Amino acid sequence: MNKPVLGIPQNTIEILRKYNFSFQKKFGQNFLIDTHVLDKIIRAADINKEDMVLEIGPGIGTMTQYLAEAAGKVVAVEIDKNLIPILSETLEGYGNVRIINEDVLKLDIRSLVENENKGKPVKVVANLPYYITTPIIMGLFEEHVPIESITVMVQKEVADRMQTGPGSKDYGALSLAVQYYASPYIVANVPPNCFMPRPKVGSAVIRLTCHKHPPVEVADERLMFHIIRASFNQRRKTLANGLKNSDKLDFSKELIMEAIERLGKGASVRGESLTLEEFAELSNYFTHV
Ligand code: SAM
Repeated sequence: MNKPVLGIPQNTIEILRKYNFSFQKKFGQNFLIDTHVLDKIIRAADINKEDMVLEIGPGIGTMTQYLAEAAGKVVAVEIDKNLIPILSETLEGYGNVRIINEDVLKLDIRSLVENENKGKPVKVVANLPYYITTPIIMGLFEEHVPIESITVMVQKEVADRMQTGPGSKDYGALSLAVQYYASPYIVANVPPNCFMPRPKVGSAVIRLTCHKHPPVEVADERLMFHIIRASFNQRRKTLANGLKNSDKLDFSKELIMEAIERLGKGASVRGESLTLEEFAELSNYFTHV
């Protein structure tokens, strides 16, 4: 097998020149050029030869080379057709990699994973395109793709939002959604100089270890997430007003006040102070009345 070589900036520059590649801003292309960060991601992802890894956005194949060394099989989905000939060269010699030239948001990932790994859970590892981080991660969760863990590079601010709890200004619908499906853990902060070109924002590697069973019992998941979104839509309003003003919910003011009272909260409580357990309880109250 080959040795991974692309984390070294000079090698990345060389291959980009050879193919006269121009970066596409619209695809969020910031390629990793730091071997220490690559090593950290691979270690945090905890991959072995039994694993299938799904990589989203392989770019020129920098991390794919590391993944191919560690995993049994790698399936990588890349939208930019100009990168496909480059990937053929950089991944030549790795017989365990399959590249799919598609938009990940349009792909039936659940069927892909089920076919490629016989229904066994996969590990997702990626340096994600930041313009679609949330739809990618929420799509994987909501479509119930069989996944063991997701280890990804995201914008620092998004990693903070995923990991935080009530009482923080970063706490919101994304925190609750991620924590319903997984345990988040920020592995490392990564400065802009580890990428080419440099992004304008700081980055972080976050590992989401997927729950085998959700941490709370919810009778109607969709309803709970409508309630959560409604509670954070109008941050400065009370929980009661947030729920009353939502066009996705149709509860009377009286019923809402009753539910809030059952939670042991006062009329002025705000959604941002509620835990996942409390949102589950609130949602179950509306399901059962
Ligand atoms: N993994 C590479 C690395 O670390 O150097 C590249 C990471 S770069 C931040 C994001 C990659 O995702 C780019 O290669 C980009 O073309 C690809 N990408 C952007 N939007 C995509 C989409 N909708 N579906 C699949 N790949 C996408």
